[in-house]
Amino acid sequence: MDLYEYQAKDLFAAHGVPVLPGKTVETADAAAAAAAELGTAVVVKAQVKTGGRGKAGGVKLANNPDEAREKAEAILGLDIKGHTVHRVLVTEASDIAEEYYFSFLLDRSNRTFLAMASAEGGMEIEQLAVERPEALAKVPVDPIAGVDKAKAAEIVAQAKIPAAVADEAADVIVKLWETFVAEDATLVEVNPLVRDPQDKIIALDGKVTLDDNAGFRHPGHADLVDQRTEDPLEAKAKAKHLNYVKLDGEVGIIGNGAGLVMSTLDVVAYAGEKHGGVKPANFLDIGGGASAEVMAAGLDVILGDPDVKSVFVNVFGGITACDAVANGIVEALKILGDGATKPLVVRLDGNNVEEGRRILNEANHPLVTQVDTMDNAADKAAELAAAGA
Ligand code: GDP
Ligand code: MN
Repeated sequence: MDLYEYQAKDLFAAHGVPVLPGKTVETADAAAAAAAELGTAVVVKAQVKTGGRGKAGGVKLANNPDEAREKAEAILGLDIKGHTVHRVLVTEASDIAEEYYFSFLLDRSNRTFLAMASAEGGMEIEQLAVERPEALAKVPVDPIAGVDKAKAAEIVAQAKIPAAVADEAADVIVKLWETFVAEDATLVEVNPLVRDPQDKIIALDGKVTLDDNAGFRHPGHADLVDQRTEDPLEAKAKAKHLNYVKLDGEVGIIGNGAGLVMSTLDVVAYAGEKHGGVKPANFLDIGGGASAEVMAAGLDVILGDPDVKSVFVNVFGGITACDAVANGIVEALKILGDGATKPLVVRLDGNNVEEGRRILNEANHPLVTQVDTMDNAADKAAELAAAGA
């Protein structure tokens, strides 16, 4: 899960990373009140989960509460790269002597963590990496050893951050590492990390990605989810503990095992080309135990998607054999009753496939078509989706 800047900065503050005081508000009047409360010049900043807000007109300086109201009015409702601004952060304005770049991230290709830092911050990091790669220090971080003051000093030196603030910058980097580890983040980025005229180091922006797989260790992280921008089908699936991702096609997909589901998406997309370009509507992996409850929960989510015109259930029986899956499908259709309204193409293979197919044939449900191979089943599902569209 990606966090908003204000959420990232709250986490920073909790771990001792210097940030400036601020308040997040949803109306222009509240922005004026927040500026009055701070009693300083403020920066009004769009809270959207995308970068480049400054360039898009989403970050504006205001010298007094009236200006803050005006700037908030201009920013609220703005569309920044497809994200509508519902909230602005009103935060104390800082004088900036220099802007640096800093991040910790999970470096998957090298199976380790990585610190990236540069004394040339402010501009977009992708641009810096292309135009001035020598200015961007990349320092691997051993996950066991972590980042102590000495390691932080090494990063600071490689980034060519000036000596006058090297010690303080290293302190801040140690605290950013503590944030990264304590919160189970996969990304902590500060751009710009600024040096103010008094040589204080401050995180002026913040981007944090939390590792959802570690969510069970952080009950508080659930409060960081923005219900307003969450996809309602994904929220429903999450509540049912399903591994579901909404896509923009018409063929609902249920499979067991992430690999099988991924290849099912490919096969359906390919088959769809012959049927008016229909595409997969979702990713849904129901995992190893395809019980009736899980199957019903999965079907319920998929059938609730108005874009779905047909459903492809693709199961390879392993430890959970095909007969159990077939019973799961039959029971799920009973549980859903009139809620099941769209055609289902079922392809079973693997452990106990004969018995599984027999169970489905016997149930003879009017919505269910069995097809023996994955390619033919994908073709049938695409055909039905095209017919229903
Ligand atoms: P982004 O464009 O989405 O990355 O948003 P940032 O939070 O990084 O803000 C963009 C730019 O606005 C920064 O690089 C700064 O140059 C400027 N900025 C942001 N906050 C302040 C502030 O408090 N004072 C001043 N002078 N400039 C600021
Ligand atoms: Mn930034």
